[in-house]
Amino acid sequence: MPLSEFELIDRFFAGRGPRRADVVLGIGDDCALLSAPPGYELAMTTDTLVEGVHFLPGTDPRDLGHKALAVNLSDLAAMGAEPAWFLLSLTLPSADADWLGAFADGLFALAARHGVALAGGNTTRGPLSITIQATGFVPLGRALQRGGARPGDRVFVTGTLGDAALALAARLGHADLSEDEAATLAARLDRPEPRVAAGLALRGLASACIDLSDGLAQDLGHVLAASGAGARVDAECLPLSPPVRAWIERTGRWDMVLAGGDDYELCFAVPTAQAELAVQDLRRAGVEATGIGEIVAGQGLSITRRGAPLAWSGVGGFAHF
Ligand code: ADP
Ligand code: MG
Repeated sequence: MPLSEFELIDRFFAGRGPRRADVVLGIGDDCALLSAPPGYELAMTTDTLVEGVHFLPGTDPRDLGHKALAVNLSDLAAMGAEPAWFLLSLTLPSADADWLGAFADGLFALAARHGVALAGGNTTRGPLSITIQATGFVPLGRALQRGGARPGDRVFVTGTLGDAALALAARLGHADLSEDEAATLAARLDRPEPRVAAGLALRGLASACIDLSDGLAQDLGHVLAASGAGARVDAECLPLSPPVRAWIERTGRWDMVLAGGDDYELCFAVPTAQAELAVQDLRRAGVEATGIGEIVAGQGLSITRRGAPLAWSGVGGFAHF
């Protein structure tokens, strides 16, 4: 017996995941009723994953459940928001119980770790596509934004860059990796860890922040445009995992690192006087941050290596249109 729309919601989504007292009314009515704490602003974001655009057909549904929520939590992290609730809009070619079970497991494992409750959603038939809308809390006026970077600020990124892009290239047969390298990097593509604790730690310290979904060059470019400033980045300082470093040594190609996309790390600016404190606070939150350059007067991003402009394609970042 195929599952009906409502059986599907009941069996895989209703009553699962963390319970929160601020969910006054969850799944089951026309709207969820949610109660926001006084003194906070709501940070809201939504992201869609479309089969064939954001992930390859046949991707493990457990990974998709994780990633669909992770990319939204990454946006909340970039604003310094504490995740609270999410809505799930699923478009499915069929109601496949095995697929749904694995998808929900991946989704709720991450939701539990961040204490974020599923408050509702929508379910339709069509080409596979997953949309999540997530909401978080930020104390009034304290959200991190893209527009606050000032000349003299140091620029940092969390984690390492280019891992997911290299994993994707390997999966598509465009890069040769050893089995070990491929396994390490696959996790970075399929199960990105949203830097939520880092975003919270950066409140009151960072002058600007963004999460890296479309490649450092493009995303740092958004910070620079919003801030009315430029930046100098030293390619030698970019944090790279051993497989990505080896790939660059073999090929001389920096495009994975600068324009690869899917990093889901944070890139932030911080006044020099607070830079050391920011790095220590992030370390306490379990995240390594690396200084990669500085904000300068003017506009645009200049990337140098050993004192000379870096040679790279400059073809930059993911854009749909
Ligand atoms: P309506 O037709 O009024 O929009 P639906 O019949 O689509 O409501 O949904 C019924 C209830 O189930 C609603 O509370 C909705 O938020 C919830 N819901 C639907 N699809 C999902 C889903 N994929 N995950 C979680 N909740 C869902
Ligand atoms: Mg309705």
